[in-house]
Amino acid sequence: MHYIIHGGADRIGGMCIEVASKDGTRILLDLGMPLYDAEKRDFPYGTPLRSTAELLAEQVLPYIPGLYVEDPTAPDIAAIVLTHAHMDHYGLVHHAHPAIPIYGSQGTLALLNVGRVFFPDTPLPADLRELPTNEPLQIGTIAVTAIPVDHAAPDSRALLVEADGQRLLYTGDLRAHGRTGYRFDALLKDPRVKRVEVLLLEGTTLGAPVGSHGYPTETDVEYGLAAIAADRPDALVTVACSGQNLDRLVSCYKAARRAGRRLVIDPYQACVLRALAPLSSAVPQFEWEHIGVCFAPFQVERLKDAGLMPLVYEMSDAGKVSTDELAGHPGDYLMSVRGNYGITKVFDKVSPEHIALVWSQWSGYWKREGCAMREWAESCCIEAHFVHSGGHAGPDDLARLKNAIGANETVFVHTEANRLQTRIS
Ligand SMILES: [Zn+2]
Repeated sequence: MHYIIHGGADRIGGMCIEVASKDGTRILLDLGMPLYDAEKRDFPYGTPLRSTAELLAEQVLPYIPGLYVEDPTAPDIAAIVLTHAHMDHYGLVHHAHPAIPIYGSQGTLALLNVGRVFFPDTPLPADLRELPTNEPLQIGTIAVTAIPVDHAAPDSRALLVEADGQRLLYTGDLRAHGRTGYRFDALLKDPRVKRVEVLLLEGTTLGAPVGSHGYPTETDVEYGLAAIAADRPDALVTVACSGQNLDRLVSCYKAARRAGRRLVIDPYQACVLRALAPLSSAVPQFEWEHIGVCFAPFQVERLKDAGLMPLVYEMSDAGKVSTDELAGHPGDYLMSVRGNYGITKVFDKVSPEHIALVWSQWSGYWKREGCAMREWAESCCIEAHFVHSGGHAGPDDLARLKNAIGANETVFVHTEANRLQTRIS
């Protein structure tokens, strides 16, 4: 067995790893979108929509023989296996030859399918297949076993690849401090991964430590949000976070309950939660008594276009919360919003002194030029609270994992550390 790191060897994002067995079976683990270019500029929105030839010429897509339609030897990749539903891991996978099957966990496929409704212009591969959990998927002479890990994307997997009597473990993205942090401890003890020949370990926090804003774990985030709600009884607590971060949504829900408030979500998040319902009965749903839906008009349009108006009516009947209600009783609600949503429609009615704004995602997004939420907050003289816990294991946890596995060869990927030549212990 041999492997090639096509993307993510010295940067965060654009992940792509090829594994090949001696008989010539080749598979890819992830085919993600780079997050930024060599000058650290964000890739423009819509980059995944550009042509394969252009993205190859600019080296946004890695050159991999037998992967793309234009290559006469294609398809010569037996499958692509995804670790999780973040763009930097799956965002370019639709450029692969359509005959190549793409595998992802139940939760990963659920999120991609919700994307079909809300981001209809974003192409997805046709042949999406569910990846079994904890049992080997045989792809030619290569076996891939998906092992659940804790990460900000729900239902994330590490991938154990076996061929020619050798084993390689690619961790994908993972951490120990989320709501399924026990999975990290389980991996430390997992006999299947002990002393693998190759460990490809994500090292996000080695090269660029991720600020935690003093909230080391997801439970700390929950208490932090509850404290703000208690501190500002007359304010609408408005939490800007990723609509796909299930752990964070649960933190919002629990914080709202602690503070005696109702959680308000938008239709996108309601759809995400419903799609993830098969994962656990603990995944909050819009039908729950203490959850309401505030309708963002453009999201309703998407649902209408997808023929899902019955679902809109279902959400409305289950607990529609109008902007007038939010404005009339701001202290009754904790609202989860997207970074750029709702500023005009919702906040026009609620006066700024009755808004407690919480930025609950990476602070780098807040500082970016054009961050609508920050610009709006500055125009209203609202000071944001920062309550966030990152999606990646810190250096100490990475060292614990590296030592527990004791691989013959450990390579950090998904990190700036290699580029910076930081010494990794
Ligand atoms: Zn990633």
